[in-house]
Amino acid sequence: MQTTNNLDSKMEQSKGRRLILCPLPFQGHINPMLELANILHAKGFSIAIIHTNFNTLNPSTRNPNFTYHSIPVDLTETEASTKDLTVVLSILNAKCVEPFRECLAELLSDGINSEYPIACLISDPLFNFTRSVAESFKLPTIILRTGCAASFAVYITFPLLKKKRLLTNTGSRLEEPVIELSPIKARDLPTMPNCDAEDLYQLITNMVNESKASYGLIFNTFEDLEGHALATIRQEYHPNIPIFPLGPFHKCGPTTSSSSSSLLAQDQSCISWLNAQAPKSVVYVSFGSMAKIDQAQFLEIAWGLANSGQPFLWVVRPGLVQGSDWLETLPDRFLKALNKRAHVVKWAPQKEVLAHPAIGAFWTHCGWNSTLEGICEGVPMICTPCFGDQMVNARYVSDVWKVGMQLEHGIERGEVERTIRRLMVEEEGEEIKDRALKLMEAANLCHKEGGSSCQFLDGLVQYALSL
Ligand code: UDP
Repeated sequence: MQTTNNLDSKMEQSKGRRLILCPLPFQGHINPMLELANILHAKGFSIAIIHTNFNTLNPSTRNPNFTYHSIPVDLTETEASTKDLTVVLSILNAKCVEPFRECLAELLSDGINSEYPIACLISDPLFNFTRSVAESFKLPTIILRTGCAASFAVYITFPLLKKKRLLTNTGSRLEEPVIELSPIKARDLPTMPNCDAEDLYQLITNMVNESKASYGLIFNTFEDLEGHALATIRQEYHPNIPIFPLGPFHKCGPTTSSSSSSLLAQDQSCISWLNAQAPKSVVYVSFGSMAKIDQAQFLEIAWGLANSGQPFLWVVRPGLVQGSDWLETLPDRFLKALNKRAHVVKWAPQKEVLAHPAIGAFWTHCGWNSTLEGICEGVPMICTPCFGDQMVNARYVSDVWKVGMQLEHGIERGEVERTIRRLMVEEEGEEIKDRALKLMEAANLCHKEGGSSCQFLDGLVQYALSL
């Protein structure tokens, strides 16, 4: 255990060191990487961010304490709108290598005589070229995995799952439990829309290999939440590769406005609308930045929410509903008839919304950031996972932490209405609400002095200075 004096002197040392952080250019990856940057800046490091001009960070909301280095990546319109995410990622990985190499070379040559020598690169393992480029300059890389530990434990089991033929043709075996990963069922295993199973396997394998070749692994989670999955990962990794669960990032260190990393403008009208609602009465509905639904599902959601009788705040991101620009598939006068019981926006200040006392439930696609943000505010969840790690996250919400319910049979208005009532009005929801509040307390404790994330953060600071 470090003495306070020791830690103070490490903090002094970190003031002379610089970290380079490189987020994958998607909202769910940018947010945690920039939150981590804030945390490490508060620990005394100087911060440089390398980012792409694809999904570029908004210049007006950047952190004035960081330096930003944009690398050009020219995706054609067809490439940028490719439905298969594995293809978009492989294009990004191919096109970013050279500009990244040039940018890193420049930063390192500036760094040689600088008062801030560079300690290491912190990168996303889906950006699968960054580590080897850094290594060619003898710069160590620490990986930030932006998903949870449980889904990562699933990813490291992929070779076994493939052998057991659980990654393809699971049609008749969907309800089958995956013994090694209890309580995960075959239906919860990661899939991607419009994507070839072999391409997804390769993407995941590359990601795991990148992390195994790195100097360490950071997770936006905490021991009390995911101790079991973290232990599984530690067993799989060489003891020289430390694992740092430092989350929940947004509850640690200096509070900055969440708009600073938002790619879309956040509609602040949500907050004044919420101010007029009764405590714990509102269903907040958002499926994140990437998920898509069809028009039939959109209408089932709309009618389910309307019939539930609860007020609702609904994020309908342009592009959420396939084949439609925004709300045009809603019946005429649908929203008007609800008479201010509904508020619909294109993008919300989600963290502020979830922290608002009027919020009573969060209907989410279970992206990891959204799941963790819901946990941190003690908001019970309704889960509609769509792809990737979301099915694993949803299974943990409903069956492990038991702080929410899944819509197990798809989106149908009757089931939506019943689930909202079960969770928000009926007795059945009371235990779920109690557990959600207890988990919130645990999430807030881990950053206090002596808390697990607080200790791992000190460990990471020392480790980065030792590289
Ligand atoms: N988010 C937001 N406003 C919205 C919806 C989402 O600011 O209206 C943020 C949310 O707080 C989270 C991120 O976008 O930090 C979404 O990440 P997540 O991992 O939940 O899902 P993804 O978008 O990657 O599917």
